[in-house]
Amino acid sequence: MLSIMGQTNITDLRVGRDSLSGLGNEIGRFVVTTMEIPWQLSKDKLGGNPEKVIMIESMEESWLDEMVATVPDCNAVVGIGGGQAIDAAKYISWKKGIRLITVPSIISVDAFVTPAAGIRRNHEVAYVGSSTPNPLVIDFNLLRTAPPELNIAGIGDLLSIHTGSFDWEYAESRGKSEYLFSARDVAAGRNILEKIYTKLDDIRDNTDDGLMAIVEGYMTMNTICLPAGHYRIEEGSEHFLFYELEERLARPFVHGYIVGLGIYLMSQLQGNQFEMIKGVMDRVGLKYHPADLDIRKEDLLAALLNIKKYVASKPNIWFSVIDDSGITEEWALKAMEGLKF
Ligand SMILES: [Zn+2]
Repeated sequence: MLSIMGQTNITDLRVGRDSLSGLGNEIGRFVVTTMEIPWQLSKDKLGGNPEKVIMIESMEESWLDEMVATVPDCNAVVGIGGGQAIDAAKYISWKKGIRLITVPSIISVDAFVTPAAGIRRNHEVAYVGSSTPNPLVIDFNLLRTAPPELNIAGIGDLLSIHTGSFDWEYAESRGKSEYLFSARDVAAGRNILEKIYTKLDDIRDNTDDGLMAIVEGYMTMNTICLPAGHYRIEEGSEHFLFYELEERLARPFVHGYIVGLGIYLMSQLQGNQFEMIKGVMDRVGLKYHPADLDIRKEDLLAALLNIKKYVASKPNIWFSVIDDSGITEEWALKAMEGLKF
């Protein structure tokens, strides 16, 4: 059985093939937050009789508050699905003070391990509340009903430790770290990477071991980042490039894919083992090419040429290699050479 010391933000873990089976009969009165597809895939397995099934139509706070008001007296809320169904369950659990059970049907985003619920407040992202699943249900067969490449995308926010930690060390070396620097946290983050590197084929194939490696990676990351109060070890220049592109193109992306693109480009800017990390992303089958993200060459080039100005204009963006860079068109084109558009 899995044992991770520290603050994982998981009270209990129920893991296995079909580990969801019969759960609905064990938890008293409960409501479910979900969406059409994950609900069809899981309702027979779950069993029991939910007091109410809330189909998520919106993550707006006002809509969620309407739903909270309709929740009957019950013991638990079960979130089944991707990030939104799970965040909605976290929100309801927090607002009603009832037990939270999370059942991810896909692990492309880390909502199932983070304490705060990501919602929308007047269309802007906001993180509210704090909740801990009891249990987190990892049902390998349910996860394998998702497109495998989207489960693989879950590795993006783990591989970003490669560039994120480099940036934190760089900021510290320049006397610009926003947080008390911790060499121990950086080392612990790199340990997560080392472990993940041994599971690349399993992750690519969505085996039990591979899926669990991603879940464990996130839980271990919590033990580092929750006590620290920030995610500096895994958020750096690779994410900042994504923020620029998101603002520029004003549309959502598969998070792990665009973080992968950021790692590809920023590891080159850092002079930080580009060939190695590219090899990891290729072997695990992470989609990171602009063609997978529907990003045009001229847009990516413009983003790279603007990135230094962009981070300087955002006071909340941490110091990174970007701040000291002088990206020229020649450098950018060379860095983009191996990418498919
Ligand atoms: Zn991220």
